[in-house]
Amino acid sequence: MTLISPWRADFPGMLALDKEGQTYLDSAATAQKPQAVLDTLLAYYAGGVANVHRAQHLPGERATRAFESTREKAARWLNAVSAEEIVFTRGATESLNLLAYGLEHLFSAGDEIVISAAEHHANLLPWQQLAARKALKLVVLPLTEQGDIDPQQAAALIGPRTRLLAVSQLSNVLGRWQSLEPLLLHARNQGALTIVDGAQGAVHGRHDLQALGCDFYVCSSHKLYGPDGVGLLYGRRSALQCLQHWQFGGEMVQQVDYHQASLRSAPLGLEAGTPPVSGVIALGTTLDYLSQLDAAAVAAHEAGLHNILLQGLHGYDGMRLLGEPQTALACFTVEGVHSGDLAHLLTEQGIAVRAGHHCAMPLLKRLGVNGAIRVSLGLYNDQSDLQRFFTALDKALELLQ
Ligand code: PMP
Repeated sequence: MTLISPWRADFPGMLALDKEGQTYLDSAATAQKPQAVLDTLLAYYAGGVANVHRAQHLPGERATRAFESTREKAARWLNAVSAEEIVFTRGATESLNLLAYGLEHLFSAGDEIVISAAEHHANLLPWQQLAARKALKLVVLPLTEQGDIDPQQAAALIGPRTRLLAVSQLSNVLGRWQSLEPLLLHARNQGALTIVDGAQGAVHGRHDLQALGCDFYVCSSHKLYGPDGVGLLYGRRSALQCLQHWQFGGEMVQQVDYHQASLRSAPLGLEAGTPPVSGVIALGTTLDYLSQLDAAAVAAHEAGLHNILLQGLHGYDGMRLLGEPQTALACFTVEGVHSGDLAHLLTEQGIAVRAGHHCAMPLLKRLGVNGAIRVSLGLYNDQSDLQRFFTALDKALELLQ
């Protein structure tokens, strides 16, 4: 029986790419959007736009209500205690930069920030910069062969000097779920704040953030089948109160004089200026769409495809998978083959996969490779996408080997 996604028809982008002869296997970079999300964007623009939180007029109130209802939906989606714990940003990268700036005042020279060796640049560079500004030590947790954070080493490296632990839930290169709960608990017991980068993890399954036990969680709408330009930052209420304001302007203030201002608290205090209104409203529709799916069926479909992907890749001579991926993606190199050349030949055959360092250069260096091909899956992929990929891979390798 071949695996066919019952949800593919919901995604006009997939159907358009099919017509163009393109096989989309790059959802970890960004995902196609369901028709319902496109309908919401069009309805918002065509129905008469208005800014949020400002005007009392009807279109303004309508936009504000729709905008704020996404905050409620996001809080339910992530099982936050309240909608006040959800801040809208422009993406996971912006959320992490906001955190690095907002927490800066809590650090003194010699304090330690702990990350893992598997971090995306978005969860590395903000901490590198902060460490340089405040003379902090950046501690990197090593990984096991499979790609997990080594629990013993983590227990030893997270100690009383640790002020912050910032780790990803699911690596965009290794495709492994980290067992975060014990790690986060240990860090909190040491008095550290904790951040989880859920940019990839949020896309595969629902996560109960109260059960996970982190102080902050970040993710991006565009990877979650929603519009781009929108990020979600969850902060436990008490943790959000630790953040200093980071951007200043309209709507984040209560009273303003020429020489001073009193600022609002989060979430609105962290959302200066006009937010991405249409995107936030359409993210609400995305969450509605995702909420009504049969989660077990989606997980089974993705697991079935992932299995086929891994089995297929294992059949090639000289194939090296990076780590032992568990979900939705696989990164690989083939001995004696330059991954740039291979990517080029796959691209020529209409296979949309990503090649390069995947914004995780230190990880690739640590693994001893300078580039890899990544195949990543969305809930709309069919087995036939993978068959086309493998046919193209056979041809490309025949030419290159
Ligand atoms: N973290 C991880 C693990 C990611 O995969 C990405 C996106 N590739 C990001 C952070 C950054 O997300 P964005 O580019 O949407 O800000």
